[in-house]
Parts: sequence; C-alpha cells; structure tokens
Amino acid sequence: MRQPLVAGNWKMNGSRASIAELLGGLKAGIGQVTAAEVAVCAPAVYIADVQSQLDGTSIKWGGQDVSVYESGAYTGEIAGSMLADFGCHFVIIGHSERRAYHGETDEVVAQKFTAARAAGLVPILCVGETLEEREQGITEEVVGRQLDAVIKHCGIAMVGEGVIAYEPVWAIGTGKTATPEMAQAVHAFIRGRLASNDQAVADVVRVLYGGSMNPKNAAELVAQADIDGGLIGGASLKPDDFLAVCSAANS
Ligand code: PEP
Repeated sequence: MRQPLVAGNWKMNGSRASIAELLGGLKAGIGQVTAAEVAVCAPAVYIADVQSQLDGTSIKWGGQDVSVYESGAYTGEIAGSMLADFGCHFVIIGHSERRAYHGETDEVVAQKFTAARAAGLVPILCVGETLEEREQGITEEVVGRQLDAVIKHCGIAMVGEGVIAYEPVWAIGTGKTATPEMAQAVHAFIRGRLASNDQAVADVVRVLYGGSMNPKNAAELVAQADIDGGLIGGASLKPDDFLAVCSAANS
C-alpha cells in the first residue's frame, strides 16, 4: 500500500505576505487530510519562512531544484545540504521547465537525483513528453529514456528512495489534463519499467501525476491504480483548491 502524496509546486510565484496567507489557509484546513502526505515546494528564498510557519504541522516542504555540487564556487546555486538545513524533506528534480529553459539534460537530472539523496532529501523526479513527442507516438520512448538515465546513474535502489512525477509537458499550466486513462497508461508503463529492474521498488515507489490537476479532475485521476497522488502547480497557489486536491487523494 503506497501512501498518497500531494506536493505543491509554487514555481516562481508569491511574496512573503502571500505565502503567509496561503500557509495560513493550508494549516487551517489540513486537519481533515490525514491519510495523504502533503508538501509544498517553495522558491528557495522563502524556504526559511515556510519552515518557521510549517514546523510542527503535518505539512512537509521542499525545494524546486538542487545543485549537482556539494559546495563551492557555483554562484547562484543551492546545495542539497542547504535545503536540508532548512528542514526540506523533498526536492523537485528535472521539472520540464528546468529541462526546457535551463538546459538540464537527462545526465544532469540524474546527477541532481544523487545530490538530493546525498543530502538526505527525497527527490521528486519529473518525467514527461512534449505534445510533439506524444503526437509522434514516442511517449514511452521519451519517458523510458528519462527514467533509464536516472536508474543507470543512481541504481534502482536509490530510485526506490525517491518519488516519480509523470508530467506531460503539454498539460502543464495549459488547463489540458491527460484523461485518467491516458495518465494511467503512462503510469503503468513507468511502474513496469521500474519492475523490470526491481519488482520490490516498483511496488513501493509513488508515481504522481502532474499537469493541470485541480479539484475537478483530481478524484478521477487518483482513483487510477498506478496514480499515487499529484504534483500540483497552479492549483497549489489557492488554499481551497490545493486542500480539495489533497482531500481527493486522502481517501
Ligand atoms: C507543475 O508545474 O508541476 C504543474 C503540474 O503545473 P500545473 O498544475 O499548473 O499544470
């Protein structure tokens, strides 16, 4: 039995004031969500604020990226140990926006997965195809390649210590959601790929869906056999919407 996980990805949004308001709303409503694990991944500069406001609650927090390096002359980078220093539990790795706008290759993503684990963080590894790739019928090839790169670099045992998020790029921030059947098909493929390396890992690793998940579509998505929760962008910025998605995953 895999515990559902709902993680918010705030991306580059918010201010100290808006984050305090958002967290206030989450803390007030989270009491009903007891079965699912809930987390928010904040912009790095706000993680200290998030820590002070969430410490002692059931809501965990994390970063949105991590350096491949441990420390040193890497201006602007944030080390895994720094995220851990501020109580981060999770870190998002290889989000499609980082792959597309920051040139993160499969190899770099794999190195970041290792760096996250070295710092004791739980990596949320994002994989997913673009619209063009889906239309070319190469979704499984792309997702398989992204996954294999991390398995090859880190080993299947380490992959088993993380979380995978299937995020079709064409569904992120677009309002277009994969149908539950489309999502389930790729989630089953991901689990099969893990199983071909190690069945025990495949049984325990949580595979989240991400891409315009919201209170209206969350229940149907998380009802799928291989969907273990969600990575939520836009809807994680509104406490009521995020709590509704958490509730959907809670049952
Ligand atoms: C995301 O950025 O990880 C995401 C899923 O965004 P959205 O929910 O806004 O599509």
